[in-house]
Order: sequence, then C-alpha cells, then structure tokens
Amino acid sequence: MLLKKELGVVENSYYEASVTRPRPCAPLSRPVTADVCVVGGGYAGLSTALELAERGYSVVLLEAQRVGWGASGRNGGQAIVGFGADGECAIEKQFSAQDAKRAWDISVEGLQLLHDRMKRHAIECEFTPGYLSLAVKPRKSKALREWMDHATATYGYPLQWLGPAEITQWVASDRFHAAVFDARSGHLHPLKYCLGLAAAARRAGVRIHENSAAFVVERGEQPRVKTAQGECRCSFVVLAGNVYLGEYGDDIAPEVVARIMPVGTYMIATEPMSRERADALMRGRPAASDTNFILDYFRLTADHRLLFGGADSYSGAAPRDLIGRIRASMLGVFPQLADLAILHAWGGFVDITMNKAPNFGRLGSNVYYLQGFSGHGLALAGMAGKLAAEAIAGQMERFDLFARIRHRHFPGGALMRTPALLLGMLYYRLRDAL
Ligand SMILES: Cc1cc2nc3c(=O)[nH]c(=O)nc-3n(C[C@H](O)[C@H](O)[C@H](O)COP(=O)(O)OP(=O)(O)OC[C@H]3O[C@@H](n4cnc5c(N)ncnc54)[C@H](O)[C@@H]3O)c2cc1C
Repeated sequence: MLLKKELGVVENSYYEASVTRPRPCAPLSRPVTADVCVVGGGYAGLSTALELAERGYSVVLLEAQRVGWGASGRNGGQAIVGFGADGECAIEKQFSAQDAKRAWDISVEGLQLLHDRMKRHAIECEFTPGYLSLAVKPRKSKALREWMDHATATYGYPLQWLGPAEITQWVASDRFHAAVFDARSGHLHPLKYCLGLAAAARRAGVRIHENSAAFVVERGEQPRVKTAQGECRCSFVVLAGNVYLGEYGDDIAPEVVARIMPVGTYMIATEPMSRERADALMRGRPAASDTNFILDYFRLTADHRLLFGGADSYSGAAPRDLIGRIRASMLGVFPQLADLAILHAWGGFVDITMNKAPNFGRLGSNVYYLQGFSGHGLALAGMAGKLAAEAIAGQMERFDLFARIRHRHFPGGALMRTPALLLGMLYYRLRDAL
C-alpha cells in the first residue's frame, strides 16, 4: 500500500528538530494481556492511557510509528476552546441549550486539563496565553462579532472585541479588520507536550509499544488487538488512530473511518529573529488564525521564529510550490518578514467530520473510538481521553453526551477517502528542499 511506503519519509519539521526524543519503546513482540488496549499514540490515546493508569487499570498502548508521529506532533500548537468552525452550530442544533452549554464547558475544561497536566507532570512545552481570531474583511468582522456576542451570552465565556481602531496595536499588519481576543486559550510546542504526556503515561505504568501497528481488532467479550509480532487480549479497546486508523487494517472499524475526512494542512517556520523584532509583530505573542474557510494560522515560538500554517488540501494532494504559497500568505500578513529564510516546512492531516463536531462513541459495549476533532484537537483530544476513561470506569454521562451527536458519512465512504489520503502523503517528500 502506498501509505506504508511513505511512512519512513523524514520531514523537515521544526518540532522534530527542536526536541530530543527518548529511545524508541520496543515493539509488541508477544501475546500480552491488559485491562485496556489503546490504539494510537497522539493526545487522544495518551490521554486515555494516562487517565486509566492513574485509576489503576493496566494499559497497553500501541503506536504504529513513534509517539506524536501523527497530528499531535505536527500541529499549529493553538490550544483553543470550543469546536471546529460550525461545530458549535451542529451541537446547538441537536442539543438542548443546557446540553450545548455542558458540551462547551467540557471544551473549556480541556484547556484546564492541559494546564493541570503541564504542572502535575512538569511538562515544559512553552505555553503562552492568548488567542486572536482575526477577520480579514468587514463582512467577516460582522460574523465574528455575532459569534462573540453569542458565545459570551450563551456560554458566559469572556472574550474581548478589537475593532479596526485597535487591531494594528495587536498585530503589526494591515491585513485584518477586527478580532476577538481570548485570554484563556493560547499556544504551546505540541510535540513537547505530546512527549511529556507519553513520559507521564509511562511513569504511571502504561506499557507503550512503538512501531506496533494494530492491524486487526477482534471484537467480543475479550477483544484481541493484533500486531505483526504480538497481540493484546483485553477487556476494552480504545481506538484513537485519527485518519490513519483504516490504513493499517480494513476491518479495524470501517463503520467509523468514513465519518472523518483527512484534510492536509501545511506549516513553515522562519529562521529566528531578534526578541525585539518578534515582540513588535504581535502584542503579548498570542496564537492567531483568521476566520477564512481556508484559514491561515500563525504564532511566534519561544526562540523567536514565526510559524505560519495554511493551504488546506481537501483532495489529499499537497499544493504545488507549497513553501512558496505559504510564504506568500505569510508575507500577505507580514510583508516586513521578506528577509527571513524559511528553514522548516511540514504538514499533516486534520480529521474533519462533516458537521465539524467531534465524533466519539462505542462499538458494542467495549470498543471505544475518539476522532473528528476538526482542527480543535489540541485541547479537546486530551479531554476526549479523559471522558473515555471515565466511561470505562463506569461514569458514562459525559462521554455519552458527545456520543449522542449525530454524524453522517462522507460521500463515497472509505473508497473515496483512501486515495485522497494516499495522495496527500506524497507531500512529505517536501522535506529537504530547503
Ligand atoms: C498541521 C496541523 C495543524 C493543526 N493545528 C491545530 C491547532 O493549532 N490547534 C488544534 O487544536 N488542533 C490542530 N490540529 C489538529 C490536532 O493536531 C489533532 O486534532 C489532534 O492532534 C488529534 O490527536 P489524535 O490523538 O486524535 O491523533 P494523532 O495525533 O494523529 O494520533 C494518532 C496516532 O495513531 C497512530 N495510529 C493510527 N492507526 C494506528 C494503528 N492501526 N495501530 C497503531 N497506531 C495507529 C498514528 O500513527 C498516530 O500517531 C492540527 C493538525 C495538523 C495536522
């Protein structure tokens, strides 16, 4: 399968270049037993595993590549409340006002969970508070203002409006018309956070096996998860493989795989600039993204680089001249950065559901799945893991709130999704062009 050939490709990711990974965890090479087998070593899987181990469950976590290889080690680092664009609308349409508020509050709790874990497990991941949602046109400003008024009135969430007169004091750019500032959301180094979570899980007793793709999940009272060289017999399985899950075995969970679509999104990192120059770009250094459908997102790093992301690809194919395109978008916002070299570029897949609301649920009584974070997984995927752990421990209520959200399959189902995903993987060849 083409995807498998692409998996070994090394990318030129700023995140990978700025961490020292621990030695790989040994692959699963024999039959083992555990209370719970978690498939996937991103935020969702690691969070589930950590929560369960802290509750006294024995947990095996299988990761096909390395921990943080997927979206959790590649993303924009923006830790924000709420759900993917329109996700709130879908939830509000399907839920009572009271339940929609509960769902929103759980997303806010996801931010608090990040902070608690950073503190409790001493995870150094450069968290910086503040998030700007930016409107590029008066029409977009109007919609943004309506959203802000709705969020403050309906959810009591504090947000600050920055009109045309103020916006340039916050971002040294004339591209934006207005913004909403969220002081609680923020940004961090996503791979450092992910590796910190994995270290905490290991300390709590989770047995992590890297390079251990699960290719069969036999369901039943005592499910069995099989890898090439071993298998885990358990009481519960948690599938947290994101858009990659179906690539390792057609029968793992075909009924849920077609509910998410892999959308390619790509990032660049500049060379470092001086602290003063970086500070002058964005007041207080918040995370930022615009409200366009194909959105640009950016933030400054602790070592004074600008990270800039965008150029979504729904076809799965990477855009041509990717670096040039994203650099052009960056210069559209900050033309004053034209002298900076682009030292890193990488990409990954966001797991989008049709209605942009998250998709959690259960297959039978003991196989759980967590997916569909629709670009909001940094805070929400960790929270999803906590809810799955609560449910396995018998407290179903909060998990079931999300499991009630109705989702539709993408047209064409897995048949259309797979070629798109495979094409998108070709992008990773980009790496050394710099
Ligand atoms: C470029 C980019 C920018 C983004 N920016 C943001 C952002 O700024 N803010 C935000 O909130 N979200 C953002 N996201 C989305 C966010 O990163 C994801 O929602 C989140 O990381 C999902 O976590 P996860 O654990 O579900 O999946 P992943 O982190 O993708 O982890 C899934 C893991 O499962 C493994 N796996 C899959 N199948 C198997 C199998 N059969 N056996 C064993 N292992 C398997 C994979 O190898 C992978 O490591 C971005 C995503 C990308 C790609």
